[in-house]
Amino acid sequence: MLVVMKVDASDTEIEAVCAAIRGLGYEPHSMPGEQRTAVCITGNKGPVDKDRLSQLEGVREVIPVSKPYKLVSLETKNERTIVDVRGEPIGGQVLTLIAGPCSVETEDRTMAIAEGLCGMGVKFFRAGAYKPRTSPYAFQGLEEEGLRILAKVRDELGLRIVTEVLSEETLSAVAEVADVLQIGARNMQNTALLKKVGKCTLPVLLKRGASATLEELLMAGEYIMAGGNHQVVFCERGIRAFGDHVRNTLDVSAIAAVKELSHLPVLGDPSHAAGKRNLVPPLARAAVAAGADGLLIEVHTDPSTAWSDGAQTLELGVFQRLAEELRRYRETFGPAPSETHAS
Ligand code: PEP
Ligand code: MN
Repeated sequence: MLVVMKVDASDTEIEAVCAAIRGLGYEPHSMPGEQRTAVCITGNKGPVDKDRLSQLEGVREVIPVSKPYKLVSLETKNERTIVDVRGEPIGGQVLTLIAGPCSVETEDRTMAIAEGLCGMGVKFFRAGAYKPRTSPYAFQGLEEEGLRILAKVRDELGLRIVTEVLSEETLSAVAEVADVLQIGARNMQNTALLKKVGKCTLPVLLKRGASATLEELLMAGEYIMAGGNHQVVFCERGIRAFGDHVRNTLDVSAIAAVKELSHLPVLGDPSHAAGKRNLVPPLARAAVAAGADGLLIEVHTDPSTAWSDGAQTLELGVFQRLAEELRRYRETFGPAPSETHAS
């Protein structure tokens, strides 16, 4: 259920509604918006006493939420969320580009890539210090040393750091350095980890599992929001299909569908979908055309010697041309039609 407050409802009235919901044994989640505040109710097994809540001061209406995900739903918040990452938005008018190598490499190599990206106006740097590799014998990431290098990128260049948190044990160390906590595809349904990041104050980039349905992705986002962290960004990175022409199949329709179902931003990751660098530009274009709020792209000064995912990594100059093209596209066409209004 959702308690929609009147436009001019006071903080005291909103708090009284929350207290009444707690009194009924449920949990209130206040969702402030530009136009109005709504209070979402979770924890109820059956119908809520609607009449009791409708009569409270400042309440406009009490309505059911039909979807199993409540807080991520566009029904609950009829207004697009713009996630703020140290002053840089994800969502809204701008196209967010998150770029960098797959893994943090040596300090010199990592700084060279980051400086190159900085010079192109990129604000978000991605690189993993903890890597979820298919083989236990493959490079697993520089771990603490990688975090130290990421801190240097952040402190010296001012780039926002997007990096993966692979486990509960490493969360506090990663959170010291990250501006955005990335939950990887393999961990999308690690509910213990989702609950932990739900208690963090940092934004979370949640990647879709390779075999996850859209509803499972949205429910994973719900775990994070239910913990109190409302700064969630979804990412479509390709799903397992039968073709062997790509590593994963970029589900462009999922990007458009998330925009229909949720108020949260959604990014596309053409790199992990394609698996091959020549397919990254067309998939990036498709993701933006489908309404993605931004892209996550692997970039390196020398992709052929990258420590992981080199085959799908773009050389800096190639990325620069693609980024210019995508920004021009966005300036010309703006966000996708479903983005311009929350219907
Ligand atoms: C990554 O972004 O480096 C990564 C490991 O991606 P995914 O979780 O989508 O495989
Ligand atoms: Mn990678």
